[in-house]
Amino acid sequence: MNIYVLLKRTFDTEEKISLTGGKINEDGAEFIINPYDEYAVEEAIQVRDAQGGEVTVISVGTEEAEKQLRTALAMGADKAVLINIEDEIENGDQFTTSKIIAEYLKDKEADLIIAGNVAIDGGSGQVGPRVAELLEIPYITTITKLEISDGNVSVTRDVEGDSEIIETSLPLLVTAQQGLNEPRYPSLPGIMKAKKKPLEELELDDLDLEEEDVEAKTKTLEIYLPPKKEAGKVLSGEIKDQVTELVQLLRSEAKVI
Ligand SMILES: Cc1cc2nc3c(=O)[nH]c(=O)nc-3n(C[C@H](O)[C@H](O)[C@H](O)COP(=O)(O)OP(=O)(O)OC[C@H]3O[C@@H](n4cnc5c(N)ncnc54)[C@H](O)[C@@H]3O)c2cc1C
Repeated sequence: MNIYVLLKRTFDTEEKISLTGGKINEDGAEFIINPYDEYAVEEAIQVRDAQGGEVTVISVGTEEAEKQLRTALAMGADKAVLINIEDEIENGDQFTTSKIIAEYLKDKEADLIIAGNVAIDGGSGQVGPRVAELLEIPYITTITKLEISDGNVSVTRDVEGDSEIIETSLPLLVTAQQGLNEPRYPSLPGIMKAKKKPLEELELDDLDLEEEDVEAKTKTLEIYLPPKKEAGKVLSGEIKDQVTELVQLLRSEAKVI
């Protein structure tokens, strides 16, 4: 089976993020595989081990993403592709990324494409569905279980805490939700093997794309941190007085009643 994983290099949002000039400050920031894409890599490896075939991991970005691609190879993926657009595109958006990935995949005869449900930095959840639309294949988002047998696919998806079971067939794109699996850590032999696994680097030219073909459709006007949380107010005194004060505060300060 021909399996592709879409992998994004993202900020580690567990770390402190700072802004400089309206942009996220990359100096000193930690970068990781988008956590939902780790589920995608793990699922792809499990499907390949059960069904046979090959797992290729694709990332659109800069050469720094090579580190995250090598980690996916160390987990057990077979090949990686880095579409390096650093020198060609200054401002990309979800359209840019999806168009590039779809252009790469259009003649690859992918049976299964697994993306993350959402990137923890950009957070739009658009890239997976956009790629499927461009390739004109079905897609199912936020999946928590994937079973494939003789080309028939049964998928369980998370619908805001409830589950939905969908039966379909390949080719298919799915997006991984938390709970799909427990991503493995790369083993030491895995890390050694990963150094020799193929990592292809492509540019827009290699995909017959011009900059204007992938020009962003949206413009980010501003990026800002959420307002600081103010300390809560603790009322004291007789309960009756506290209730009166609370009602007054809700009216005059919070202005919610
Ligand atoms: C060269 C470049 C320039 C950019 N410039 C800007 C900018 O100026 N302003 C701005 O706000 N943003 C910029 N971006 C970021 C870009 O708009 C989004 O991060 C990207 O389109 C993905 O959207 P998202 O983060 O909402 O991902 P989502 O749609 O939430 O991601 C869902 C899933 O899609 C897949 N995916 C997402 N991104 C990639 C990727 N790059 N490679 C492989 N798979 C992926 C992953 O599986 C991921 O889990 C730029 C990106 C690039 C590569």
